[in-house]
Amino acid sequence: MRSGDAYVASLRDGRTVFLDGERVDDVTKHPAFIEPIRRVAEIYDRAKAAEHDPALTYADPITGARHSNMWLPPRSADDLGARRRIHRFWAEPSFGLMGRTPDHVACVLTAFAAWRHLFDRGGARFGDNVVRFYERARDEDLYVAYAIVPPQVDRASPAHRHPEPFLHPGVVRETGAGIVVRGSHAIATSATMADWLFVSYITPLVPGDEDYAISLVMPMNAEGLRLYPRRPYATTATSVYDYPLSSRFDEVDTTVVFNDVLVPWEHVFIYRDVDLVNAQFHDSPSHTTANFQSLVRFGVKLEFMAGLAMRLAEIQGATGDPSVQATLGGEIGALCAAFDALVKAAERFPLITSGVARPHPQYVYAGMGLQRTLIVDMMRTLRELAGGAFQAVPSSDSAFTSPETRADTERYYQSAAAGARERIKLVKLVWDFVGTEFGGRQLQYEMFYSASQPVVNRRMFKSYDWAAATAIVDRCLGEY
Ligand SMILES: Cc1cc2nc3c(=O)[nH]c(=O)nc-3n(C[C@H](O)[C@H](O)[C@H](O)COP(=O)(O)OP(=O)(O)OC[C@H]3O[C@@H](n4cnc5c(N)ncnc54)[C@H](O)[C@@H]3O)c2cc1C
Repeated sequence: MRSGDAYVASLRDGRTVFLDGERVDDVTKHPAFIEPIRRVAEIYDRAKAAEHDPALTYADPITGARHSNMWLPPRSADDLGARRRIHRFWAEPSFGLMGRTPDHVACVLTAFAAWRHLFDRGGARFGDNVVRFYERARDEDLYVAYAIVPPQVDRASPAHRHPEPFLHPGVVRETGAGIVVRGSHAIATSATMADWLFVSYITPLVPGDEDYAISLVMPMNAEGLRLYPRRPYATTATSVYDYPLSSRFDEVDTTVVFNDVLVPWEHVFIYRDVDLVNAQFHDSPSHTTANFQSLVRFGVKLEFMAGLAMRLAEIQGATGDPSVQATLGGEIGALCAAFDALVKAAERFPLITSGVARPHPQYVYAGMGLQRTLIVDMMRTLRELAGGAFQAVPSSDSAFTSPETRADTERYYQSAAAGARERIKLVKLVWDFVGTEFGGRQLQYEMFYSASQPVVNRRMFKSYDWAAATAIVDRCLGEY
């Protein structure tokens, strides 16, 4: 398992990143990325220090080498428990605010390798490619990001009917060495700080889309691959005290453009096969396994949110108030506990097919469907608890040091429960969670990190045990 330093060094690979129209020479030294990269490097160090911990790693049955549980092919509920532990391990340092840590796409690759027979349907060499890349990613402890949703050019028309070809990524030509990819995908979160990019489609393709029917990986420094991050929030955060989350945990969503990137054959998983691209995430355990990571990570965020609510109420001296207690219990505690139960049910009652355990889809999709409701409701509750506190704050931490303003600041921003510096520190933390651009992005992430609500709800429709429910009705009808 690699160290944080080795990870940071791997990012100095000449990748093409453009910010505000200018090329970024070295992401590891740029203020937009330096802090989130530091966070990830710290977790790599912690993971390396724990490489012999059986709670977080497993021994390969053939080689005996130990690997992170994020690469463990799950065969049982206990294996899913091992995967849950590593997801929490990666989520806790960012309080669940970084969703696309290395353990996310590791789920996809692990599930693909455990389900190689799907890729073999396109030819055994493609199944070989999947397994070989999975083993490499596992052995080198790689950080892989993914781009699987195309830009919103025209959601009513398939890729091959767009105003011009290859707005969505597709194969412009094939050579003996590999395939040449052109086009763009909308978002690859964390791409600027990952090692490799997985590229395919989770949005359904249709017959006629064969040029677009690809599934492949490329290194982040592949010639022709351009990374266009949205505005990183760390660059606008004036201090850690004023923006404790924006300044440290922005994983930076990034549009990716493929300017005729040559992808060697050995990095191609699916080639010009619409059915296989459509099947890869849902026939294989990849979608439930990756979203299990998302749910575990979201559970950490919910706990963080519950803690913020309680601390906010405490600092305002409001915890003894019956209506505040009812709000904390009913609108925060109950939802957090219910969500935790869903994650545990998905783990403890897996569906085991072909020897692979997938977190139970019924609970995974129930969790995903509830996620956006929970985040919206709980953010609103935090706002209700805060009242005008977010706006009644000094403009920056300089107010505490300026001889002109220090006395007023210390006096009028205090509460009965805490001094001004401590109280404002908490208030600014909560605001960065619910109200800043970083906070808004967090809300959007939970609403859309996987798909729009109707898409998630239709997955739930397919996963719920309707047969059991209708059997009860039939029994009732049969009684009279
Ligand atoms: C913060 C964030 C991070 C993300 N990170 C990643 C990432 O790392 N990798 C990745 O691949 N993707 C990522 N995504 C993209 C994510 O997968 C998509 O946003 C999600 O799948 C929804 O697709 P979309 O954005 O294209 O929205 P759309 O599918 O276009 O949906 C937008 C709205 O339009 C509606 N709609 C859709 N189609 C139609 C239609 N034909 N007619 C009428 N209404 C329609 C939907 O119901 C929805 O309300 C991220 C998204 C966010 C917000």
